[in-house]
Amino acid sequence: MKGLLYYGNRDMRYSNNVPEPELIDARDVKIEVEWCGICGSDLHEYLDGPIFFPHDPNGKNHVSDFGYHLCLGHEYSGTVTEIGSKVSTLKVGDTVVVETTGGCNDRYRYPNAPNFGTKKCTACRNGKTNACKYLTFQGLGLSSGALAERVVVGEHHVVKIDNSKIPFDIGALIEPLAVAWHAVSHSGFKKGSNALVLGAGPIGLAVVLALQGHGAGTIVCSEPADIRRDQAGTLGAQTFNPMDSKDSIEDLRAMAPGGEGFEHTFDASGVPSTFTSSIQCLGPHGVAVNIAIWGHKPVDIYPMDITLQEKNVTGVMCYTRKDFEETISAIENGLIDIEKIRKMITGKVRLEDSVEKGILELVNNKEKNVKILVSPKMGNV
Ligand SMILES: [Zn+2]
Ligand SMILES: [Zn+2]
Repeated sequence: MKGLLYYGNRDMRYSNNVPEPELIDARDVKIEVEWCGICGSDLHEYLDGPIFFPHDPNGKNHVSDFGYHLCLGHEYSGTVTEIGSKVSTLKVGDTVVVETTGGCNDRYRYPNAPNFGTKKCTACRNGKTNACKYLTFQGLGLSSGALAERVVVGEHHVVKIDNSKIPFDIGALIEPLAVAWHAVSHSGFKKGSNALVLGAGPIGLAVVLALQGHGAGTIVCSEPADIRRDQAGTLGAQTFNPMDSKDSIEDLRAMAPGGEGFEHTFDASGVPSTFTSSIQCLGPHGVAVNIAIWGHKPVDIYPMDITLQEKNVTGVMCYTRKDFEETISAIENGLIDIEKIRKMITGKVRLEDSVEKGILELVNNKEKNVKILVSPKMGNV
């Protein structure tokens, strides 16, 4: 079949000759892919990788024992085409999206892997599969991903969508929206609360939508790049350009209702200045959430910025199945506006063109794009 394979740093290759994925367990399902989004993580694997893939090209994934040359792609929608004999919650023809983390709950599938059969980690025993000590991802080394015609995944990762309410292209954005949904939920967000989002890349924009889904009051988004800031405005956030300000901390704090800082802040940029801003722009007892993925670099912070006014600083990692289910019902119930989600799609390309018009387009024209979707079917109709 067709697919986009990972070969290592700056080396991703389209192929017509990817092996057909097969069910390896009676609880597996096969899915025909409709749309798959290209994620910032895919770009990191291209530019700075391997990150989630084994660092040694001859290395193996710690859960599946699979090596390189697997397909990328973990933000997707599709239709179930085959089910294993023990699958009970899905049938052929179901329209679905997939929660693509891997960890303790997946080790049963790989009897030859070194971590097969060992007991579940503390996080997984508590249902926090996103904090699993073995965390890995389909499409990022665990198993072959959805920048392909078909994928196979364990039933417990698959969540049905009602295709009459959520079309397939919107379905492919549920994964990044679930990242944002998890961040907002994890911060203890209450209806009517206010928030500051630092950065209006794909995840920052998804946080704006997830905040709306949680019934937020004032939402301010700070972003220096004009195109991205405008996109946040189109989605309904008040916008702020830190380049226009002599004291962006004071100016941002003043934009919160009451003028003394925000109840919640979300750092979706991941640079030292946004991390410290996320703390300094909080009001008393506020919660700062780091949602950005960082390299190994330290940040200077003053502990008294947290201690005075008893602020909370936390970080979030991907999502659980529950975040997918809640995101889907927020879309189905109109709490997140489908037309706003659609504004995040800035390109649709064929799988055959996914390196040139997908990966490289995002690398070279970062600000012009939010989300590029890839279809293995486009052009074949
Ligand atoms: Zn992603
Ligand atoms: Zn675990």
